[in-house]
Amino acid sequence: MTDTQLFFRSYKEIDTRAAFDTEVGISPQNIESLIGEYHFPVEEEEVPCQVDHEGKRCKEPHRNGWLGRRQDGKEALIGSSCGVKYFGANEKFVADRKRITRELSIKGYLERLALTKGNPDFENDLRRAIGRLKRIKSEVDDLRNALPVNIVRRLRGMAKAGSAGVEVNFRYDDDEDEEGNPKVSFVRQQIGQIDGLDVWNEVHFQNLFAQLYAIRTTLASAEVTRDAGPIKLKRWADHLDEFRLAQNAVDGLDNAIDAFMAIPNLHLVCFVVPSQNDATDVARYALKRAGDAAATEGNARQLYRQLRAQISELAGGRDFSIP
Ligand SMILES: [Zn+2]
Repeated sequence: MTDTQLFFRSYKEIDTRAAFDTEVGISPQNIESLIGEYHFPVEEEEVPCQVDHEGKRCKEPHRNGWLGRRQDGKEALIGSSCGVKYFGANEKFVADRKRITRELSIKGYLERLALTKGNPDFENDLRRAIGRLKRIKSEVDDLRNALPVNIVRRLRGMAKAGSAGVEVNFRYDDDEDEEGNPKVSFVRQQIGQIDGLDVWNEVHFQNLFAQLYAIRTTLASAEVTRDAGPIKLKRWADHLDEFRLAQNAVDGLDNAIDAFMAIPNLHLVCFVVPSQNDATDVARYALKRAGDAAATEGNARQLYRQLRAQISELAGGRDFSIP
């Protein structure tokens, strides 16, 4: 317990101070200065307020307030309501309260900065996150070059709209119109959802890169020193704390690229556009991904036919078109 203690988290921390005296009263007339702020936990019993007002001791049970020092050196509790009510006009009280708040803020920001700027792991994690994001981006670039233009355009559109569902129109020939002629109708049905669509969200990549580079700049310029003042310290602490969220977003993209590249997912991608040529190209890409480096056009067409047959089975073998 030093005299520089500005915050008391338990009554015990005050009760054990030599100058603290539960018997004395404190008022704007006999106060010398404020020592610090206290917030006792709810598990602790409330303690009586020691503020004197018009010759009467307050005694209100409370847990939050300020420890004050009287001109005779004795220390007493100023409950937060009495502090606001009776000491608001006391310049010394107001100035001390501001000073304590400021000091406690600075201390809080410095503690947070110690976990980021002051932590060597933080810089490593940041560097790794940027490296991972670059790797994911280059995987997506390779993918973009490997897949048909129409497919890429469609995937980007789906990512932008946030709609992962792939739908087909099943053909029903079994109906008849009023005159008994065969009637054809189409029923739209979702056959699956594209996983990892987020990798096609270009804005997401741009924002994440910008965010990580900005954090890197802040990390380089932040100074873990109280001389920087609470405004700058807060800005740095807040900005560096954003990294954990950005890191989660990179994790999310890392999972998304794996999910997108999964073979059953690539099979579903064949059906996001109507073109059979595009679908065959995707099927060929899927075969190569699955380990068949020499996959031919013929192999790809065969796979495409199999996939069509599987989808057809979802509606009892009905033919379908892609909207
Ligand atoms: Zn009081």
